[in-house]
Amino acid sequence: MVGLVLVCHSAKLAEGVAELAAQMGGESLRIGVAGGLDRPGNALGTDAVRVVRAIEEAWSEDGVLVLMDLGSAVLSAEMALDLLPEERRDHVVLTEAPLVEGAVAAAVAAGLGDSLEKVAEEARGALAAKASHLTPQAALEPLRGTPLAEEGSAQAGTAEAARGPTLRLTVENASGLHARPAATLVRTAAGFNADVTISNATTDRGPASARSLNAVATLGVRHGDEILVRACGPQAEEALAAIRRLADDDFGDPREARPQAAAGAQTGRSLPVEVGAAPLSGPPPAPGSVLTGLPGSPGVAVGKARRLRAAPVEAPDGPSEDRDADWDALERALSATAHDIRRARASVASRASDYDAAIFDAHLLFLEDEALLGPARGGVMRDGKNAARAWADAVAAAAAAWQALDDPYQRARAADLRSVGDQVLYHLLDLPADFGPRVASFDAGAAGIVVALDLTPAEAAGLDPAHVLGVACAFGGPTSHAAILARSLGIPAVVGVGRALLGVAEGTLLALDGEAGTVTVDPPAARTAAAGDRRERRAREEAEAQTRAHLPAVTRDGTVVHVAANVAGPGDVRAAVAAGADGVGLLRTEFLFLEADHLPTEDEQEKAYRAVAEGLGGRPLTLRTLDVGADKQLPYLPLEQEQNPNLGLRGIRLGLSHPELLIGQLRAALRVAADHPVRVMFPMVATVDEVRRARELLDGARASLTAAGAAAPERIEVGIMVEVPAAALMVEAFVPHVDFFSLGTNDLAQYVLAADRGNAEVAALADALHPAVLRLIDRVARAAAEGGRSVAVCGEVAGDPLAIPVLLGLGITELSMAAARIPLAKQAVRVTDAGAARQLAARALAAESAAAVRELGPR
Ligand code: PEP
Ligand code: MG
Repeated sequence: MVGLVLVCHSAKLAEGVAELAAQMGGESLRIGVAGGLDRPGNALGTDAVRVVRAIEEAWSEDGVLVLMDLGSAVLSAEMALDLLPEERRDHVVLTEAPLVEGAVAAAVAAGLGDSLEKVAEEARGALAAKASHLTPQAALEPLRGTPLAEEGSAQAGTAEAARGPTLRLTVENASGLHARPAATLVRTAAGFNADVTISNATTDRGPASARSLNAVATLGVRHGDEILVRACGPQAEEALAAIRRLADDDFGDPREARPQAAAGAQTGRSLPVEVGAAPLSGPPPAPGSVLTGLPGSPGVAVGKARRLRAAPVEAPDGPSEDRDADWDALERALSATAHDIRRARASVASRASDYDAAIFDAHLLFLEDEALLGPARGGVMRDGKNAARAWADAVAAAAAAWQALDDPYQRARAADLRSVGDQVLYHLLDLPADFGPRVASFDAGAAGIVVALDLTPAEAAGLDPAHVLGVACAFGGPTSHAAILARSLGIPAVVGVGRALLGVAEGTLLALDGEAGTVTVDPPAARTAAAGDRRERRAREEAEAQTRAHLPAVTRDGTVVHVAANVAGPGDVRAAVAAGADGVGLLRTEFLFLEADHLPTEDEQEKAYRAVAEGLGGRPLTLRTLDVGADKQLPYLPLEQEQNPNLGLRGIRLGLSHPELLIGQLRAALRVAADHPVRVMFPMVATVDEVRRARELLDGARASLTAAGAAAPERIEVGIMVEVPAAALMVEAFVPHVDFFSLGTNDLAQYVLAADRGNAEVAALADALHPAVLRLIDRVARAAAEGGRSVAVCGEVAGDPLAIPVLLGLGITELSMAAARIPLAKQAVRVTDAGAARQLAARALAAESAAAVRELGPR
């Protein structure tokens, strides 16, 4: 005889229905009940484990029919099915039949000895009699797709009212209920004491629990689809009213942000919707579209798009050794990932808008979704898989469901899910660094253009020029560290392309112009050929310049200009020397710290600095102390989240507030300076007092070395970066305290123009050739010359051939730049005449804008 199982939110309801069914089915009918929860104060709800037990109670070789009330009861029953041994699963049927009527009808059929199929059919038809009695036409509708009453219509008070009020809505969002609006809907529904389900009335899919993002999303709700929302429970009405308001507000999607089919030239400067390890997605730009961003690194490239994604993680296959411990570990990994995602959300919200950051809400919901957690839990507890394997399998199954949707935009969410899944695996498997730098997948032997939302400095540093022909970023500015690093690797780059870049699919052919700041999608043949010609011309010019790169850079009238390299560590030195660097004008020591997974010890630092100095073979080395903060964060040195990180605790400010960090670094630098020409430079100095305090720490570091019998030079040259306008304006006051100045024009321009260098919306404003910045350079150069101090420029403008004559005209004779730019920069020096440069500089100082200065250039 077929057994029955009743899954209800309330234990009392389950018992009552069981009593009724038992009366109908006779004594030998087996009924299992799974009603309510064991939680004091919150006894309403359903639990998959209870359902499994109920199935076991009602077990019969003839099969078991499971009836459920609503919402999570359905999910719990499905999950229970997953938790059953495979051979039993086939004998269990979950039915959409109404609970009370269905149980009664099924009990009668089971009592008569009917087959499982017949019993299920009886249960499904159980509502027909009542429906035809009360609402004749409703009886004509197939039960599954019952078109429910319009809100407030006559029907609303009849059959449907017994199952709670309903709401019918048309989804106006251009991309339907994609991740962000679906997440907003789920969050809203979860805020009420009500079971809410959603059906796609247009495609007749559902109902799905509104508590599961996966379930809602897999309804495949597209633009123009009608959805049917049902709610049941004490706050059913309030839940529906809130969902109505949400729909009126397009589920939080701003109208202008609705994706549109792209065509022709596009200038998407708004912030992209994905960051962190999430892949890009969006409507694909039309073939031939020219996406305009900002010049990131010079050069042209033609190649296939290679999208950046989290380095894939392989989950091990072995069995669980301790199921409870495995499940605990997975829960810890989930909360660590949630922490990372919240941090990334806050960072995007501070750099862009809350709307842009809201994509992370969907990512957070993935981590709470029973549709993922249930199978993962089952994988560990029932199947005995190790936690990583169980999680990876659950993610793969859910991603496959997304992948099966019709809408390409929604299909792309599968990639989001996999990416979030990988983040969890990184934590679970204790893999190094945050999520691990993301990597682009390259076909064997094929190179391509990396398309990314943005690159962290560590990711940019990891780009391999052998594979990476170019870089296109939706986010960032020309002096963001991703662009700086692309330049130092000689990789053409366009940054700040914006939202339009999101839709570029893996493998799409792109033509990238790092000077014009454009990316052409599926370029016409003529454009590809033109880009090829330009690339060859540039390669010829570079090769020609390279033949003279090792000679000094001397202007026509005989002024020797020191052309040095900006490097991030020992790995860059060989290329710098090969490019003709006269020394290192800026060692960004923070990269040693950023690439490590722990605070480098003094000895580790000393080893790295010594390797740089030795690689330079006697050429001078300017070592800048740690400049973290703003966009360069150390994972192992958690700092307070700042509202305005660029104006926060960065550079020397951080060093002075963590003197132990600065002293360790200064001791390492002094130990190397005992044997090599090393000078020390402090970043982000705003006040003379900061220099005084930094110098005291330097004296302390020297004294401690001497006391320990270690070699340290009596005297070491000390300089400051001039990148805060206050320091430029007060330069005379600094003269007695320093030996040299170096103009950090990347930051100086950002602060003078009040334009975040990493924010694509405004980064173009932070142009170091703006006359306001040039006037400060002029001021610093004059004061330094009067005070007998040297002054260099080490911001990105130093390597711009167009800017070089202007800088020389302002009296600058030391430049430091990405190594790849040195040969052409030296050429630019050689064709410059000091007299003409001075006149050019005078005109630049009097110009009205950066654009006007660029127009002046002799070329
Ligand atoms: C600058 O600000 O110009 C500079 C060289 O320093 P960084 O780019 O590392 O901030
Ligand atoms: Mg700087």
